[in-house]
Amino acid sequence: MTKKTQNDSVAPRYQRVVLKISGEGLGKPGNCGIDGEAIRRIAMEVISVRELGVEVAVVVGGGNFIRGSTVASESGIQEATAHYMGMLATVINALALQDVLEELGQPTRVQSSIAIHSACENFIRRRCIRHLEKGRVVILAAGTGRPFVTTDTAAALAAVEINADMLLKATKVDGVYTADPVKDKDAKLLASLSYNDVIDERLGVMDVSAVDMCQRNGVPIAVLNLMKPGNMKDAILGQDVGTMIND
Ligand code: UDP
Repeated sequence: MTKKTQNDSVAPRYQRVVLKISGEGLGKPGNCGIDGEAIRRIAMEVISVRELGVEVAVVVGGGNFIRGSTVASESGIQEATAHYMGMLATVINALALQDVLEELGQPTRVQSSIAIHSACENFIRRRCIRHLEKGRVVILAAGTGRPFVTTDTAAALAAVEINADMLLKATKVDGVYTADPVKDKDAKLLASLSYNDVIDERLGVMDVSAVDMCQRNGVPIAVLNLMKPGNMKDAILGQDVGTMIND
């Protein structure tokens, strides 16, 4: 049940959340690079949640520029190097999102797991939490700072590390389906799943390591479509949106 405040407005069920956005969500569909309109749409969603008083950290991916494993296999560049290139791509996205959020009036900081002194802060856990407490959005860039994992794992790690109440994973579709909804018109949206369902059946929603980390630390994961305005806010208010992974 959703809690009500004294003035009968709906109170958020979650006070501090981590939002994971793939690089793809920041670009034009199928294209490399960034799309100002897509970033603006995401920024508006984030701001609508901030207006509820909810603290928001955003972990951005970099797949709209580089995915380490793809670059390595196509170019012959060492895989570890390619992963560092991927992490740098996430910083590009983070700076773009920061700019748009601030233009819309939302104070924002970028913290990177790879030190880039001239462009952003380093990730410092206590400093990140302080920013959140002050109402700033914190964009966490450069994933974990280490190769061979993805920003899904970084997002789960961040959620645990900053004591977030929920991890929101933005996807292109409405949540987790029984089959790929793009290929199979009979695919059904699953309202809820256990962590074990996702891990055992390798549903591909997120990296198994990310789901495992959330399970071990009791962080629920909401998988939802951020292209639909209001979805993120509704999930934080405890309404049925997308797929909830917990238990
Ligand atoms: N990456 C990495 N370590 C991390 C996070 C990311 O090496 O902790 C690299 C990895 O090569 C990955 C790329 O950065 O492919 C971009 O991140 P990701 O694939 O998670 O982006 P998304 O698919 O979410 O856009």
